[in-house]
Amino acid sequence: MSTTSIRRSAAIPGRDELHPDCGNCFALCCTAFGFSRSADFPLDKPAGTPCPNLAADFSCGIHDRLRPRGFRGCTVFDCFGAGQAVSQGLFDGFSWRDKPDSRSAMFAVFKIMRQLHEMLWYLAEAQERAFDPETGTAAQELRLAIRKVAGGPVPGLLALDVGTLHHRVRQILVEVSEEVRAAYFAVGDELDEMLLPGADLAGLNLRTLWLCGADLRGACLIAADLRGTDLAAVDLLGADLRDARLEDADLSRALYLTQPQLNSARGSLGTRLPGGLEVPGHWQANQNRGVREL
Ligand code: SF4
Repeated sequence: MSTTSIRRSAAIPGRDELHPDCGNCFALCCTAFGFSRSADFPLDKPAGTPCPNLAADFSCGIHDRLRPRGFRGCTVFDCFGAGQAVSQGLFDGFSWRDKPDSRSAMFAVFKIMRQLHEMLWYLAEAQERAFDPETGTAAQELRLAIRKVAGGPVPGLLALDVGTLHHRVRQILVEVSEEVRAAYFAVGDELDEMLLPGADLAGLNLRTLWLCGADLRGACLIAADLRGTDLAAVDLLGADLRDARLEDADLSRALYLTQPQLNSARGSLGTRLPGGLEVPGHWQANQNRGVREL
């Protein structure tokens, strides 16, 4: 057996409640959202209707064969813990089957809650990694405000101006990103000119470039070759990592990485992940390696 292992940085505090707990959720992701037939979901499903594969106990009838059956999108999605927060926290454990009248509010508030939990995910990292105490405090205060509104009541959540909140979160994330990336002296001419926010880097071989500290926020990295690269302080906020090659890459200190991004990418057990992020199931095929902490 190989002793090569995944090495992780420490988990970021404040994210414990931001992981899915499907056993305490009424399959809100399988009902609230609508899907059009695509490479990620092989049928049309209107919003607010249960997926035909959903079982009576809210489990997925094809959970162990989602990818072979064409439901790749289901293996990528992550609710950041919004599902159980809505099902148990806001609706007291009564499902949309128990109380059909609650359906539209429950589904609508789930979509908002997922956005709030995703913001909390990012802000926890911003608070942890900020160098400027004022920026860290701003992240902390916004986290507290979001947590407060996320606790309900439902009408307040439904009336929330999510767009303004997104803007405030984004400002803090960008500030912290600049602080962190500056510490890697990755400014101006130090980086390849194509490593820019929103850059289209799909399918490119980036293995030979110095990437540490690059701002790849919103970049298209579909099928980009990042094997064996060091992505320390690379801002990956909203970057599209579908089918990106991450085998043996070091993402342990990347900025703003999420589980859905990892789930959509290709990697191996030699890929180094930040603490608190899981190795996607499809990375594990044919590999037999251990996990240890940094
Ligand atoms: S296929 Fe399974 S996981 Fe995907 S939406 Fe349907 S029930 Fe949910």
